[in-house]
Formats: sequence, structure tokens, C-alpha cells
Amino acid sequence: MESNANLYALLASGFPPDRSQAAIETPDQAYSWNDIEEMSARLASLLQALALPSGARVAVQVEKSPTALMLYLATVRAGLVYLPLNTAYRSAEVEYFLTDAEPAVVVCDSKNLEWIEALARKTDIANVYTLDADGSGSLAVAAASQGSQFDTVVSQPDDLAAILYTSGTTGRSKGAMLSHRNLSSNAQVLKEFWGWRPDDVLLHMLPIFHVHGLFVASHGALLAGAKMIWLPKFNVDQALHYLPQSTVMMGVPTYYVRLLADARFTREVTRNMRLFISGSAPLLTETFTEFRERTGQTILERYGMSETIMLTSNPYDAALGERLGGTVGQPLPGVSVRVVDEAGAALPAGEIGNVQVRGPNVFSGYWRMPEKTREEFTADGWFRTGDVGQWGGANVPDNYLTIVGRSKDLIISGGFNVYPKEIELVIDEQPGVDESAVIGVPHPDFGEAVVAVVVEKQGCKIDPEAMLAGLKACLANFKVPKRIVVAAELPRNTMGKVQKNVLREQYKNL
Ligand code: AMP
Repeated sequence: MESNANLYALLASGFPPDRSQAAIETPDQAYSWNDIEEMSARLASLLQALALPSGARVAVQVEKSPTALMLYLATVRAGLVYLPLNTAYRSAEVEYFLTDAEPAVVVCDSKNLEWIEALARKTDIANVYTLDADGSGSLAVAAASQGSQFDTVVSQPDDLAAILYTSGTTGRSKGAMLSHRNLSSNAQVLKEFWGWRPDDVLLHMLPIFHVHGLFVASHGALLAGAKMIWLPKFNVDQALHYLPQSTVMMGVPTYYVRLLADARFTREVTRNMRLFISGSAPLLTETFTEFRERTGQTILERYGMSETIMLTSNPYDAALGERLGGTVGQPLPGVSVRVVDEAGAALPAGEIGNVQVRGPNVFSGYWRMPEKTREEFTADGWFRTGDVGQWGGANVPDNYLTIVGRSKDLIISGGFNVYPKEIELVIDEQPGVDESAVIGVPHPDFGEAVVAVVVEKQGCKIDPEAMLAGLKACLANFKVPKRIVVAAELPRNTMGKVQKNVLREQYKNL
């Protein structure tokens, strides 16, 4: 038999022998492993019937639903490239992705059909389908007449499976190209490292347009043949309801902060849990400690990014060491991590430098950005993560990594990345604005909150409330500043660069 590097073939190899068992449960519906195979087969058949060239992109901006997951699996099965888009993106943002990625298919929520269709006409995309949160829409109608069997397309390890767009610091988003090998190798490593078992139940509350929910969480459960409790989003009441039936939960730090803020979140609620995983943004040591005191459970923090999937993890197996709050643990098996100075020399433990990585999980480059790709890889093939970190430190063993900051000015608010430059560009367009600087300030719930410091044009008066309303119309909600502060001027260094560190210090207690 021909060996198949298709990611779906790997995932399906982990499905349980009894495929009539429940694989996905939502509050009102259950899907068996047979359903996953059949639904993804029908959708893959539909995509195959479009006779698209290999490597064609399928752009998807839909609410989270089991069908949306099936669409992802179907795209991979059909040998096409999945391109998820944050549901918060507005027309101008989506237009950029469609123009850049040139997908052959776009799937959207029916409420956005009008403007998506207009964009599709403009960008020459022939195939537009709708998929709503309840699974209905033209995609389901078209798939219903397709066959329930599909031979998963044979893929090569380096074939692309997905493109994840990460916003660029210069305002231009970059599409991280992920291959079947990148995704498969990471899924296999995590299965072992986190001790996934067929009798696990994953409480899945993360969005599925991002590496965390789409790859780390879903692949883990699928490859283990473990059931998922599938919720459209994080909600404290629902989490409290489903935790007693679950064994694994993955979340961004905000989820854990919110659970702890609720007195009903107790040791009793988590009695069945085997593993709580946190990532996408730094987990405060305070949260880590309070969580352990409240529940007796030790959150496992891990570190990764769209370009690399998972890189490091605190140990699951106690034989490998303790889980240490404030650290992101040890490099995963097969992943190499180094901390280097500006000249590229490896630094010893305790010294802060740039984090660089290498491994089968690391992406091949940014979509149609060969220049940018060259810049982000060293001559000897290491990817520059843009994160700043150190090995070891006070009371931390030397083989544990700590992320201390970001070399660029990325803000992470509620687990979502916000690039200041993009928002500054929009604010500077607003009437009466001379210039602006967008920074992240500490926020107890979101980790960081977006704050805009704005300087008025001479003779102009800015109304922050009115400006916020204007920004809401053209920016995804998570990017809209929580506060707009009017200042007389922006602090600058001798090179004329705005000193954001000064602003962050000034507004840290906002
Ligand atoms: P994304 O590509 O959206 O997943 O964002 C990746 C970035 O999130 C990384 O480069 C880090 O800056 C940050 N990140 C992810 N996990 C952690 C973590 N556990 N601690 C600190 N930062 C993290």
C-alpha cells in the first residue's frame, strides 16, 4: 500500500475501533466517529468535484460548529489548503486575505454573504458557500448529494495543509504555510507528551480559526480517539457545567482567570480532570498558584505560535520534572530551541535573548513573501520567533524556558494578537488626529488591554467616545482600544522613534 502523509490519514488512524461511539457532543447534538468520516467525506467529495488545482486554498470565515471542523478535515482530506479567518474580521480585513491568498473557495456565514459575495466578485473567486452556526447553509445543501465515502488524497509530507495568517507588525498580515508534516509531527509528539488516552474527554471551548483550538486541541482528541465536548465559545456557566464530565481542558489564561473569579469553581468541579493546559499568552504566576490552591490541579503551560505549532511544554509526566508557573517548560521531543544574543551566539542560562527554533513542526515560510521568509530564518535554518526569553533563572532548572517579552510590540489581549501598527494606521485616518501610539497595558481579565494614545491636530478637539464608535465599524472588536487617551505629544528617542516603553510605564495603572 502507498504510504500517505495526509494529516487526515494520521488522525483517522487514531479513531477508535467502534466508530458508532460519540466523538463530538454539543449541548444539543452528538456526532459519532462514523459521522466525522461521513460528513468530511461528503464535503471532501464536494470540494473534489470542483476540480481545483492541487494546493488551492479554501478560505473559511464561519462561527464555530461541528460542521466547521468537518470542513477543515474535508479540506485536508481533499489535498487542499485550509485558510481559517477570525470571525471578527470586517470587510476591509477579509478583502486583504482574499486578495493575498487567492482562494478558490470561500465559505462564510449567511449573515455576511452580501459583502463576501461582493468581495468574491472583485477578487475572482468562483465558489462561495454559506455555513451557519447550526450547520445549515448552501454548503450543507451541496454536500448532501455527495457520496459518503471518500478516499483521502495521498499527500507528500511537504504539501501544504493550512495557511494561518498572523498579523504583521508593519500592518501587513503574513500567511504562515503549514505542511502535513508540520501538523502531523506535532500532533504525534503532543499525544505522547501529554499522555492522551482514548477515554479522555476534551472540553473544547477555544475558537477554531487559531492554532490553539484548531490544531492543538482538536488534533489531540482526534488522534487519541477521545471525545470532545464542543462549545461555541468560552462561557463560565457552561464550563462549570461540563468540567465534571471532562478530563482535559485547554484555554488561554483569560479562561482560567474567569473561572477563578467564580466562587462556584471548586475542587469538586474539577474532580474528574486529568489536565488543564494554558497557552497563547503568558499565564500569571498568581493565576497558576491560585488555581492550584483552589483545585489541587497544576495548570500545564506550553508555548508555541502559528508558524511552529507547539514548541515547549511544562512536563506532564512527573518523571520529567515539575510544572513551574511563569515558565513555558522544556522543548518538546524533536524540537530544538535556543536563546541567542543579537549576534546570534547562544546564551547560557539566566541571560535574556532572542528565542530561535528548529524542528519538523516549524513552517516552511510565509505565503508569497520570500523576502520576509528569508529575514525570519537564520542562515543555518533557525526560525526567529520574535519572542525574548531565557533558560533557567531563580529557582528554575536550566532546561526550562521562560518567555519574558516580545521583541516586537505585539499586544496579546484575551489570547488574541493585536499589532499596534495596524490600529495606529486606522486611528491616524480619523478626523483631528495628528499621530497616535497603541500600546498594551496590564489588564486583570484580558492579560493586556489595548490603549491608544492620541495627539490632536492643532486647533482640533477629539471626542474619544465618538472615535471609538468610528473604530468599531472598521476593526475587529478585540482590536478596538479599551481606552483612548489624548496627550500633548508622544515621547520620542533621539532617532525619532516613539518610546512605547515610556508610554507603557506611564499608563500601566490605567
Ligand atoms: P499566535 O501565533 O497567535 O499563536 O501567537 C504566538 C505568540 O503568542 C508567541 O510568539 C508568543 O509571543 C505568545 N505566546 C504563546 N504562548 C505563550 C506562553 N505560554 N507564554 C507567553 N507567550 C506566549
